[in-house]
Amino acid sequence: MHLAAAARYPLLAVEEAQERITAQCWPLATERVRFDAALGRVLAEDVRAPEPLPPFRSAAVDGYAVRTDDGAAPRRVVAEILAGQEAPGPLAPGEGAWVTTGAPLPEGADAVIMVEQTTRDGDVVLLARAPQPGEGFHHVGESVGAGESVLERGMVVGPAEIGIMATNGVVDVAVHRRPVVAVLSTGDELVEPDEPRRLASIRDSNRYAVMASVAATGALPLSLGIARDVAAEHEAKMRAGLEHADVLITSGGVSMGNRDLIKEILEAWGTVHVGRVRFKPGKPLTFATVDGKLVFGLPGFPVSSLVTFEVFVRPALLRLMGARVVERPRARVVLAQPAKPSPDRTEYQRAAVRWQDGRLVATATGVQASHRLLSMVGANALLIIAPGTAPLPAGSEVEALLTGPLG
Ligand code: AMP
Ligand code: MG
Repeated sequence: MHLAAAARYPLLAVEEAQERITAQCWPLATERVRFDAALGRVLAEDVRAPEPLPPFRSAAVDGYAVRTDDGAAPRRVVAEILAGQEAPGPLAPGEGAWVTTGAPLPEGADAVIMVEQTTRDGDVVLLARAPQPGEGFHHVGESVGAGESVLERGMVVGPAEIGIMATNGVVDVAVHRRPVVAVLSTGDELVEPDEPRRLASIRDSNRYAVMASVAATGALPLSLGIARDVAAEHEAKMRAGLEHADVLITSGGVSMGNRDLIKEILEAWGTVHVGRVRFKPGKPLTFATVDGKLVFGLPGFPVSSLVTFEVFVRPALLRLMGARVVERPRARVVLAQPAKPSPDRTEYQRAAVRWQDGRLVATATGVQASHRLLSMVGANALLIIAPGTAPLPAGSEVEALLTGPLG
């Protein structure tokens, strides 16, 4: 019965599975937050500058504000204007004003000559050359024009975006709500990492690694613990997840064993859009919707759960967050050693990519078995290896998803 149930699902191409998931994703509702609490959030509105920047003509150097129609003649210094002080009256012909960087220019001045090109003699300053109109100061609106769009919806807020909001006096901003993502592990064999391990048990690593992936994506993880391999326990915990979260992620129980319950439960409760993917590691990846919520049934093997999260779940969470860019950057990389393709599935192999002699070179992170979590440690890329029978020789170029900073 279980065999038949699993085989009912067509083996989808990776892109087809991704499209089916995308079709069920839309940005969550918005809320307003203070600009300095928006780090990592996705903007739900464009931000415009209410006034030009800089808002007044300001000295770009320490020096003397002058009128260029006086040429190279010495100037009588009539004022000292420090940053933060208001400029006194206009400069008359033959006059100059000492200004520090950031100070406003007095009216009439049309240049600032830097102090290094001057000599002070009492209240007179001598110039080494004739200043040019417009030099040595920042013009009104030079950085940002009034009303100009400075940030766009769909951008993830980082340090520069927070600075832009501060400098423009934009004190609160609309962002999308972060998805709450409930994470459940399934399996009679699982124990908590801090529990004593029994003879045939293993420690639950998937829930912790997946929750960390959820948090790293900018969403809010919620632990549902471990469900034993009985339908009632799966159902109770999955119901709790659907009640409290926007997204439910399970791991294990999606392949063809006789205790693999996830697909049947989801089929009874909602619509299973993806049941099998021509993908390695993680062919039994399952995606369903139940009452408008997204459910991902990740395969149990630790590498499979993290790689399917990366390729299928992470972009979906970013879509819920309203992000414009949801894909990892792609690059063509050169294999440092041969790679063996899967005969019938696109394989996402873990690798460490680094810049070497003008190229991105990928070194595999050891044996690529789906139970070997160490193959994820130190990896900053997933190499996309098309199905085939012949090994790709060292030096071949393949496409890669860059999942972390280049080492
Ligand atoms: P399953 O798909 O449930 O048969 O699980 C496949 C393999 O992944 C089995 O060897 C499980 O013991 C292992 N596994 C399942 N869930 C977890 C987990 N949460 N942490 C670590 N290994 C797991
Ligand atoms: Mg299991």
